Amino acid sequence: MKKTAFILCFILIFPILTVCFSCGGKNADRTLYEIECSLDENVINGKEKVEYFNDSSVSVKELKFNLFANAFKKDAKYRPISVSDERKAYPNGVNYGGIEILSVKSESGDLDYSVCGEDQNILSVKLDTEVYPEEDYTLFIEYKITIANVIARTGINDKTINLANFYPILCARDENGFYECLYYEYGDPYYSDCADYKVTFTYKEDYTAAASGKLIKSEKSGGIVKNVFEIDNARSFSITLSKEFKTVSAKIGEVDVTYYFYNDETPQNTFEKISRSIELFSEKFGKYPYKTYSVAQSKFIQGGMEYPAMVIISDELDSSSRGEVAVHETAHQWWQTVVGNNEIKYPFLDEALAEYSTVIYYEKYPEGKLNRENMIRSSEQTYKTFCSVSDVLYQKTDTSMLRAINEYKTEYEYVNIAYVKGCIMFEYLRKSVGDKVFFESLKNYYEEYAYKNAAPDDLVGCFERAGAEANGFFDSFFSGKAII
Ligand SMILES: [Zn+2]
Repeated sequence: MKKTAFILCFILIFPILTVCFSCGGKNADRTLYEIECSLDENVINGKEKVEYFNDSSVSVKELKFNLFANAFKKDAKYRPISVSDERKAYPNGVNYGGIEILSVKSESGDLDYSVCGEDQNILSVKLDTEVYPEEDYTLFIEYKITIANVIARTGINDKTINLANFYPILCARDENGFYECLYYEYGDPYYSDCADYKVTFTYKEDYTAAASGKLIKSEKSGGIVKNVFEIDNARSFSITLSKEFKTVSAKIGEVDVTYYFYNDETPQNTFEKISRSIELFSEKFGKYPYKTYSVAQSKFIQGGMEYPAMVIISDELDSSSRGEVAVHETAHQWWQTVVGNNEIKYPFLDEALAEYSTVIYYEKYPEGKLNRENMIRSSEQTYKTFCSVSDVLYQKTDTSMLRAINEYKTEYEYVNIAYVKGCIMFEYLRKSVGDKVFFESLKNYYEEYAYKNAAPDDLVGCFERAGAEANGFFDSFFSGKAII
């Protein structure tokens, strides 16, 4: 994600940190979602067939799904919107949404399930058979989602309908089993494993849809359009709809790139930055793997938000910030979409890399004062100001980086550590190890952890294996001992 508050900081100092194959039948080694959703006003009637593939080393008797839509319930403990953003996010007053599970079945009949978790955020399903490693299991879920009138990751506003992680999505599996995500008002509270998606989405034909994945079929009848999207090896499926979308699109290499906008006086300029980002990051880190890439303007509290093969950028950005946000969110296709990470536990991991990738972009394509040197200097100034403010407020500034979203005291602290300090860390590392080792390490990291979830030690290991002797360097930044 890219923070708007961030952008405001940098307008004052310097605008640096403005701030997601083949398709068809089931792949043998991945879960397949076949989702059918029908949008009618603020209600989605949905059903999904999940062909779960047990890629772990232990057998499974229960599956757990994140119900992110329940963050918008009236009685949610973890609010999706901060108190300070509430007035802006709910222009028509605070209102609520949620997801109702109607049925869960296996191929042989009804399954026992419960909506549980710390905040009604989990669908737990007891299976009627034990699923051993390397085995598949098919289940069917029916649900009804009510979408709140809110400017948020999932919500309806007067310009767009944003639908991110709106459907029941399997919890990522790690060494402790299924990881249950809680929703946080800032940061990106998502963590999921890659799967294949075939999504049939039905909506009124006066909308245009920007979505993860390739549109493979479209039918119109009686004012209703039924689109079928497919994407493989993706962490989730997202879609944003608007009645006002205009588009710029072109084939960049093998990728169909489309920019959906309604408030951009220079859409070709924005599109050029998006296209150059895809080309440059493919060259520097490794090939962009999906068939399509879409960037959609939207009403949004933050500057932007990344999803597989699709990102959204706020419609309130000026042209300079819009470009930076578009580049930052595009970099997340490498750092978050392909190389995944637990965005709750290690939020700096993808944000710092996306932020530094933005510096790499403006190093190659400087624009006014936006260039590598100025952007790093600006980051250093911003970080020092944060430390001074924090010293006064808290006596001692905690600059450690291995913190979960909820371990930061404020969003201000989160942004300065995960984004600003993380960006500085990669610049200093690059200067220390040289360009050859730096980019070789990032290429190795991208290749080795593609479609997996990486942890900080995995990143460090890639630099070590490239001969960087990076353990001490990373430790000094992670622990907060490094002096900037
Ligand atoms: Zn980001």
